[in-house]
Amino acid sequence: MLSAEIIAVGSELLTPERTDTNSLWLTEKLMDIGVEVKLKTIVGDDEARLEETIRDALKRSDIVITTGGLGPTEDDVTRTVSARAAGREVVYHEELEAHLRERFRLWGREMPETNKRQAYVIEGAEILPNPNGSAVGMLLNDGGKFLVVLPGPPREMQPMFEDHVLGELKAVSGKISVVRRVLRVSGYGESALDELISPIYKSYPSIQTSILFNRSEIEVHLSSSAGTDSESAAIIEELVGKLVGVLGPAMFAKNGETMEEVVGKLLKDRNETLSVAESCTGGLIAMRLTDVSGSSSYLMEGVVAYSNDAKKRTLDVPDETLASHGAVSSQTAEAMADGMRRRAGTDYAISVTGIAGPDGGTDEKPVGTVYIGYADADGTRFLHMTIPGDRYLIRWRSSQAALDYLRRRILKKQ
Ligand code: ATP
Ligand code: MG
Repeated sequence: MLSAEIIAVGSELLTPERTDTNSLWLTEKLMDIGVEVKLKTIVGDDEARLEETIRDALKRSDIVITTGGLGPTEDDVTRTVSARAAGREVVYHEELEAHLRERFRLWGREMPETNKRQAYVIEGAEILPNPNGSAVGMLLNDGGKFLVVLPGPPREMQPMFEDHVLGELKAVSGKISVVRRVLRVSGYGESALDELISPIYKSYPSIQTSILFNRSEIEVHLSSSAGTDSESAAIIEELVGKLVGVLGPAMFAKNGETMEEVVGKLLKDRNETLSVAESCTGGLIAMRLTDVSGSSSYLMEGVVAYSNDAKKRTLDVPDETLASHGAVSSQTAEAMADGMRRRAGTDYAISVTGIAGPDGGTDEKPVGTVYIGYADADGTRFLHMTIPGDRYLIRWRSSQAALDYLRRRILKKQ
């Protein structure tokens, strides 16, 4: 696999004002053609540091891509510095100057003399035209090492890369086809999951595996490289099959689907309906479910019952349940789900009641105490959890836990 590194040039990218997004975009394009990005650097408009960075990059990487610093002003130094780092001169191209003068003439302006700088190109480099701006790019193939110099503005850089660089790099990266998959897993911590699955994925050296923790789930990113698309896909499918074997229903998505999509599909396939009764999540579960188009065929109703009075009035939670066990209790969670299901006449109802904090925790029921209620035709159940995190995370993870609980209950019926 060829290695690449990306150098974003521009002092503004070192401030909180501007973010380097070019390297993210380029990384995705390079992954698709089987080129691995090993390093990214952001360098200010500083000749010495930039030269050193490009020089080092050319020593260790097959492909070096810079973006930015090709403008006409004094601080745009990438043109001359990249030439110096590659041990080459810059050469003047009369036709580039003529082209620049023509552009300015079309805008009805005289070309400032400083723009003449943009008519200089690294000796021996291919000139990459820029229909969206004044700075041309450059591609230098130095005995199999590539130095690609691109402008900074994404609307100039992206078409230039796609039209003039991608094909050339693809030709040298070999006939590698990359297929990517995202799996999602609930109910495991990052290290416990890795301990369980690393012996499996490590036996697939052609698949790059990374485990990422999200706010409420773990994502397993797989990237498989082989000679053809179908070969890459087949190897990934084999690994996914083995992972399903050890993870079972904990792996809720095999193709990057969200929890609300997975739950929605289950309900739709079974032609069943759902209602939700929420306290501490304040409508978050209903919002997530209704984010999915077509959800009106299975989600019938949602209630945000925040106060005790609302729980009694809209969900028929008995007075004595609230009085003797409190609003945050398994009994209240089950009564909420039961009342919701009866009122809405749905196949299932789920409920959430908990303490999202930062206030309201006690020794007995600390912040993060959450009860999920569940009701179907067979009766009610509950799940008790203590969820770590701040108010945002506790609410988000509660919504995930409730949807996941419902999903697992439905799977038991299949
Ligand atoms: P120009 O001729 O427009 O000056 P240039 O190659 O000199 O082109 P820069 O001056 O470095 O480009 O950047 C121009 C603008 O492009 C920046 O202000 C920024 O908004 C955007 N830009 C530059 N680099 C990046 C980057 N790595 N990621 C996202 N945006 C960028
Ligand atoms: Mg500039």
